[in-house]
Amino acid sequence: MAAFDLVVAGAGILGLAHALAATRRGLKVAIVERDPHARRSSVQNFGFVTLAGQAEGVTRSRVLRSREVWLEVTDSAGIPVLQRGALLVARRAESLAVLEEYGATPSGARCELLPAAAVRQRFAAASAGIVGGLHSPDELRVEARDAIPAILRWLEEAKGVTVHRGRTALAIEANGLATDAGFIDAGAVVVVPGSNVAAFAPGLATRTRAHDCRLQMLRLRAPGVELPGVVMGDLSFLRYEGFATLRSAAALRERVAAEQPRHVAAGVHVIVAQSADGSLVVGDSHRYDRECDSEDEALILDEFAALVHAPGAEVVDRWTGIYPVADAKPLLAESPTPRSRVIAVTNGLGMSTGFAIGEETIAELFG
Ligand SMILES: Cc1cc2nc3c(=O)[nH]c(=O)nc-3n(C[C@H](O)[C@H](O)[C@H](O)COP(=O)(O)OP(=O)(O)OC[C@H]3O[C@@H](n4cnc5c(N)ncnc54)[C@H](O)[C@@H]3O)c2cc1C
Repeated sequence: MAAFDLVVAGAGILGLAHALAATRRGLKVAIVERDPHARRSSVQNFGFVTLAGQAEGVTRSRVLRSREVWLEVTDSAGIPVLQRGALLVARRAESLAVLEEYGATPSGARCELLPAAAVRQRFAAASAGIVGGLHSPDELRVEARDAIPAILRWLEEAKGVTVHRGRTALAIEANGLATDAGFIDAGAVVVVPGSNVAAFAPGLATRTRAHDCRLQMLRLRAPGVELPGVVMGDLSFLRYEGFATLRSAAALRERVAAEQPRHVAAGVHVIVAQSADGSLVVGDSHRYDRECDSEDEALILDEFAALVHAPGAEVVDRWTGIYPVADAKPLLAESPTPRSRVIAVTNGLGMSTGFAIGEETIAELFG
């Protein structure tokens, strides 16, 4: 009999999700993570479980299921949910039209359209240029850099998962996982390596032209600014499929292309989240063929200023996040052997969809 029912390589949100889904079936699980401390995509992000604007169908269903699991996990593991709900702010008539159209769809049923005065009532620091908004009540936000290590510890201490930190997975074998510190005998193997996907699925990565997307992120100290939830600006409406595919998005796209070509070229849109100490996490840009640089930061700050009136704001931290993108979306998935899977999320939504994806894989492997 194998030492473990399942060995998981990678302790980002996807690895944690697969391990959790397996423990919920009473399976014996090991996790192998090459980094001694989490430092990849899953701790570089906003910690934002985003529902508004998600594509109808599988993505929205995965977010809804993952949100349920987030609520269970944060409750059991004592992880604070720092913000609930999102305020989507429009600074053009065309973006208001997108929000109105979205609000009339079944996905928008729980959202509330807000005139400019109501936006300002909820969000005193909304900039003077805001013409309206939409409140979505269901978003969750955790501090990813704290939550991801906390979930790993909780799996280890409360769920009996064996965790090998600082150990690198080398290859999937028929009956387990080869690592740099020996073989782990397991009935099934799941490798969720994030942007290291080409190491485990080289053919798939080449065929789908998998490569890194780099995102500039900032932390601002902004005394006096209090967010009513996570705030999203209207450039985001062109990035989230559930908004971007609406009929009214065409006019917004045209206007933004004319008014903000540099933001469009750098893939800048602005999401603002608030941490427990009051500081703001602000991002991001999307660079597919080069590093982020000071231009990304300037464009993000420019867009931030168009959304939030924060006169004394200063950048206190900055980092570049990386996630994989590919011609295949929302994920790359391969079965190198019948009892193994390699999975990487390629739509940049792993925090919002990961728990559901984990349950789906475990159901495939264990019935
Ligand atoms: C700046 C930024 C903002 C984002 N914002 C959001 C958001 O608002 N909402 C949302 O839903 N998503 C967001 N995302 C996307 C989300 O963070 C990712 O989709 C998600 O974290 C992917 O999780 P993962 O576990 O697949 O990958 P990762 O977090 O990259 O984890 C993979 C892990 O595998 C390990 N690993 C790799 N190779 C090996 C090996 N050989 N052996 C052992 N371990 C290995 C790595 O060290 C790493 O810890 C954002 C991402 C970024 C970068």
